[in-house]
Order: sequence, then C-alpha cells, then structure tokens
Amino acid sequence: MVTKEQIVQWLQTFASEIQQNKDYLTELDAAIGDADHGINMERGFQKVITQLPNIVNKDIGSILKSVSMTLISSIGGASGPLYGTLFLRASNVVAGKEELTEADMQKLLQAGLQGVLQRGKAQLGDKTMIDVLSAAAIAFEEAVSGGKNMSEAMQQMVAVAEKAMKDTIPMIAKKGRASYLGDRSIGHQDPGATSCYLMLKSLCDSYQV
Ligand code: ADP
Ligand code: MG
Repeated sequence: MVTKEQIVQWLQTFASEIQQNKDYLTELDAAIGDADHGINMERGFQKVITQLPNIVNKDIGSILKSVSMTLISSIGGASGPLYGTLFLRASNVVAGKEELTEADMQKLLQAGLQGVLQRGKAQLGDKTMIDVLSAAAIAFEEAVSGGKNMSEAMQQMVAVAEKAMKDTIPMIAKKGRASYLGDRSIGHQDPGATSCYLMLKSLCDSYQV
C-alpha cells in the first residue's frame, strides 16, 4: 500500500528534486526550447509546497486535485496545463482514498498518461513527456501482473523511465516548441521527459523510505 503520508512525501521530494535540477532542466530547454522549463516547474511546485499544510489532512484524491489546480494556475508554458491535467486525471481515479494498492497505482499512472495524451495530442516517439509516462505506466503494469510487489514494480518503472528519458535524445521533436527546430532537435534530451523521470523517481524514493 502507498499511504497518504508517502504521497505527501512524494510531492515534497519531487519539489526538492526540481529545485536541485532547476538549472539542468532549464539548460535542456535552452537547447531545444525557450529555457524556462526549470523555472516553470520550480514556480509551480514551490507553490504546491506552500499550500501543502492546508491539504495534508484531506484524502489522496483531494490532495492530488488541489496540486493540479495549483499547477494549472501557477505554471506558464505548455507544462502547466499538461502536469495539471496529469494530476487532475490521477486524482479522479483515487477519489476518497487514504491509501493506494498496486491496482490503484496502475489506474493513477494510466489516467495521468491518458490525460496528457488527450490534452497535448502528442504520440509516442514525439520526444515529449509522453515517452517517459507511457513507458513507465506499461512497466509498472507488467511488473505487477508479473507478480512483483509495489516496491519492485516502482523500481522497475523508474529503470524503464530513465531509459525512456535517454531515448528521447536521438528523437526528432514533433510537438511543442522543440518541434520548430525539426532535425536540429536531434541529439538533445527532452526537458519534459526529464522532469517526468524525476517525478517517478521521487515517487519510488518516497515509497522506499
Ligand atoms: P514551453 O514549451 O511552453 O516553454 P515548458 O518548457 O515548461 O513549456 O515545457 C516543455 C516540455 O513540455 C517539453 O519538453 C515536452 O516534454 C512537453 N510538451 C510540450 N508540448 C507537449 C505536448 N503537446 N504533449 C506532451 N508534452 C508536451
Ligand atoms: Mg520552455
């Protein structure tokens, strides 16, 4: 089971990972975008942290929904609505819950992925956060149906997410600002795929502690 405390810990860990990687995410975005991904994500998740004390006593669905609203209202750029939709859709499938089973986690990941797909209309291989989210959701599902426990399934998910993040390097961007570069986007790791990897790694790390 993933407890509510671990979900709160996840949000805190992710916020601090973003803060530590703010310049790195911005450098990645400088190469193929407009050099603001680290700034955007930091602004959004610092706001989430500020508001966390007001929401920690709610159920997991309500916590994630509130995160979504904060992200949508405080992040400019493509990543605000995309991460906002991810958290909103994820919140819907765990409404009212105080802890999450492997099946709940599977639904949460799948719902988040579907939300970003519908909102951003990117496909697998377009060099976006979808490449990491999709690989991660599949890896988690496969691990669970293969009999792995939560901890093992999360570790497998993170390993696959890391590879998917690196696999964006040779891709040509087909969505978002990076797509304006066409072939010149080749050779650079996608910033959104990188922040998604950090999000999943933070989830796994918060579960292990
Ligand atoms: P902006 O591109 O508006 O400056 P950010 O720099 O914060 O916004 O975020 C850029 C990231 O958003 C990209 O690296 C990519 O992963 C993701 N992204 C952009 N457009 C889409 C889309 N249509 N679908 C999924 N992800 C996208
Ligand atoms: Mg940008």
